[in-house]
This record gives sequence, structure tokens and C-alpha cells, in this order.
Amino acid sequence: MAVVLYNTLSRQKDPFEPIEPPKVRLYACGPTVYKFAHIGNLRTYVFVDILRRLLGTSGYNVRHVMNVTDVGHRTSDADEGEDKMVVAARLEGKTVWEIAQFYWDAFRQDMACLNIREPDVWCRATDHIPEQIDLVKTLEEKGFTYTIEGDGVYFDTSKFPDYGKFARLDIEGLQAGARVGMIEGKRHPTDFSLWKFSPTDKQRLMEWDSPWGVGFPGWHVECSAMAMKHLGDRVDIHCGGTDLIPIHHTNEIAQSEAALGHTWVNVWMHGEFLTLAKTDGDVRMSKSSGEYVTVPMLIDKGYDPLAYRYFLLNGHYRQQLAFTFEALDGAVNAYGRLKRAALDVRAHTSDASQPIDAHLQTFRQAAQDDLNMPRCLAAVWDLLKDAAADKGDVYATLLEMDKVLGLGVAEMTEDAADVSDDQRAEIEAFIAERAAAKKAKDFARADEIRDTLAGRGIVLEDGPKGTTWRKA
Ligand code: AMP
Ligand code: ZN
Repeated sequence: MAVVLYNTLSRQKDPFEPIEPPKVRLYACGPTVYKFAHIGNLRTYVFVDILRRLLGTSGYNVRHVMNVTDVGHRTSDADEGEDKMVVAARLEGKTVWEIAQFYWDAFRQDMACLNIREPDVWCRATDHIPEQIDLVKTLEEKGFTYTIEGDGVYFDTSKFPDYGKFARLDIEGLQAGARVGMIEGKRHPTDFSLWKFSPTDKQRLMEWDSPWGVGFPGWHVECSAMAMKHLGDRVDIHCGGTDLIPIHHTNEIAQSEAALGHTWVNVWMHGEFLTLAKTDGDVRMSKSSGEYVTVPMLIDKGYDPLAYRYFLLNGHYRQQLAFTFEALDGAVNAYGRLKRAALDVRAHTSDASQPIDAHLQTFRQAAQDDLNMPRCLAAVWDLLKDAAADKGDVYATLLEMDKVLGLGVAEMTEDAADVSDDQRAEIEAFIAERAAAKKAKDFARADEIRDTLAGRGIVLEDGPKGTTWRKA
């Protein structure tokens, strides 16, 4: 049990020590269910899933809680704009409840496709309104709040001495620079809403009674209230994407520690972005940019979602990873090779097969060293290339490694296996013949070849760098 994790709080890798071993209380900020999740969001959840699997295989007993944001997340992080759920309901002509259920179901479907395990506890913000109100009441009693007439109840960040320390925010710079356009009545630009009053000029779709007036909770308050309810007053590990550090997690820490009077979370872990490669630099994949890829989109294009999971494991979770379909194709090939190798060694298993210690140790050391998945994959390939090892033992080792990787080794089937080397050579020959036919303007033959391959479940795609293929 020598797990080392990078803690955003200390900005270094520290040996992991749970508050009450072997228990680990793990909280991960979940999706806002107003749209399909994109594969960038899902990168963060794959990272959390790997963490949870690693802790499980390292002897810990993990309780994993994840929220579903179905109220309070505004279109701007600065507490302005409409609720994202309300906007989606209007655009799609549905109720907010239908929107939440639909996109939550879709999210769970995506998780299943990527072998991401469901948390032990799912908690919906709208199912925890009394808990959120109670937390705001505590903060009010302790003198951390103020009310802006007609707007809402706010957290006064100047009353929390360490506000911004976590994110190393330049508070003075922020206070000076952000006054323009600030909500009228806010005492400091960093103050954030705990409870918003229902708007009088807009559709009122989600609202509840409270001691301060009818309205709805702010986004940040839900995570604190639900984590406290389901994990208690102290959390071992809290996760999310790096974008959550400066505002959402900074505010979660302020309100939780102001209410509790002690440190709330021991280890904060953040996953880096999946980006899109652009000629003038990489950009974060985001819903608002409109340029994003989803799991159903991958499936439509014929990709196995687990090949995307394999693609993710090629990068360290604390480094940005640029997504391109060419890079994904590379992962498809590697994952196909892995499948063929796994099926080959599986055929040799017997009751006497057992994991090979040396290989497993190398793998575990890499995984326990702040989830170093690229090194873990290297350990997988070293194992598969170990000609001296008993094949049955190799398979038993691979199964153990897959408890962390989640690449579905035990479920791999002949059908799902990638094509054989002979078939691969045949496809390449067809592609070459088709290119020659096209050059000779024999389009009938070119089409015939495409159809022949389609009949065998192989899809051709013509791109600037030539023709590529994949299984349909
Ligand atoms: P949201 O549903 O927008 O609240 O985001 C859900 C999670 O996805 C959060 O933990 C975000 O930090 C994370 N996230 C958003 N965009 C990306 C991205 N491009 N790459 C990785 N994680 C992301
Ligand atoms: Zn959160």
C-alpha cells in the first residue's frame, strides 16, 4: 500500500494516508446534465475511475460519491447568466426534469461504454435542497454571508482569511481588475452566491422555499453539502478537472471550511484537459466552443469506445492530451494488437496459471506512482513480449493489471478481436488496387472494392493522407 498521489494543495507528490484506513472517502465533481458529455469530460472520469480502481487493488476500501448537477450551474462562472438547465429545457421544449433525466442516462451510458464504474453514491443537487439550505444557514450564523436585495445570499470571501490560497489566486489583482460588470451589491468580485432568488422577469422552472425567499441554490454549495452528507466532515480525496481549481473548488473549500472550522479535504486531484489540435495551438475541448466529440459520435464512426480509453492511457492525467482521429487510429491498432495477444495467451490458461510477480510489481509501482498509465502500458507490453513466460501465467497477470486499466480484457471475444495479420495484408492490397483503379479512372472497380470490403465489415475513409480503414 505505497500509493503516492500529486496533491494540488501541496503542489507535490505525497504518500497517500487516508484518515481512517483502509477506508477512503472519495468525492468527484460530476456532470452538469444539460447536454451530452464530450470525450474531454469523460477523460476526467476515466482518470477518477483509474484512481478508484488503483486504490481498490492497493487494499483500500473506497466509498466513491459523485454528484449530478441539475440546478444552479449558471451560463457564466461569475454567477451570472441563466441556469444551464433552464436554457436547455427552453431550447429542447422539454421540462428541466426531462432534460436532467435524459442527459444523466446518456452520461451513464457513456460511462458503461468506457468501462467507468458507477460511483457508490450518485447524488442529485435537486434531491439535496434541505442540506444546501442548512449549510447556508450555518454560514449565515457564523457571519460569512450577506444578502443582496432582489438577487440572493452571497458568501463574503474577505471573511475567509485563506480564500484563494489553494489556487494561488492573486486576490488583490482580482479585486482591482474585476469590478467592471460586477453584480451590483457584491462586496468583492470573488464573492459568490449561495442562494439565488427566483428571477421575476424570466421563466421560473426550478425553485424552492428557503428562509431567505423563494429561489434556488448556487452551484458551488451543492458539492459541499452533498459531500458532507454522504462522506462526513472530512474527505480523503476530491477530484475534478483543472478548470475547477480557481473558482468552483476554491469556493467549495471556503464555504466548507468556514462552516466546519477545520480542513475539509486532504488530497485534491485534478485531471488535465483533452485538447483539440489546431494550427495556432491546442484548444480545450469544450461544450461551449461547439467543437467536441462524444462517445455516440465515436461509435457512429465505427470506433470501439474502449480504444478511446486505451488512447487516454497513453497520456499522464496531469498532462494535456491532444485528440486527433489519426492519434485515435493509432490507439485502435495498438488496442487491436492487445486483444489478439490477450486471446492468444488466454487459450493457454489452466487452473495452475498465476500472476507473474516481477511483471505485476513493475506495473503496480507505475500505477502507485501517481497513476503513471504510460508506464503501466509499457509494463503490459513487456509482459506480452516475455517469450520465456508461461502463456497462462501471462494471461493471469494481464487480468490483474486490467483491474486497474479497465480495458475489458476478461470480456474480449473472438468477434471483437481485431483482424488477423493475413486479413490486414489483404485489406491493404485492396486499398492499393483501389488507388490504382481510381488513378486509371476505373471508378466502377474502385467502388466495387469499397463495397466488397464493406461487406466484410471494413469501412474505408479517404483523407488528405490517403485511404485509411477500420472495422465498422
Ligand atoms: P461539466 O459537465 O461541464 O461540469 O464538466 C464535467 C467535468 O469535466 C469537470 O470535472 C471538468 O473539469 C471536466 N472537463 C471539462 N472539459 C474538459 C476537457 N476538455 N478535458 C478534460 N476534462 C474536462
Ligand atoms: Zn463540485
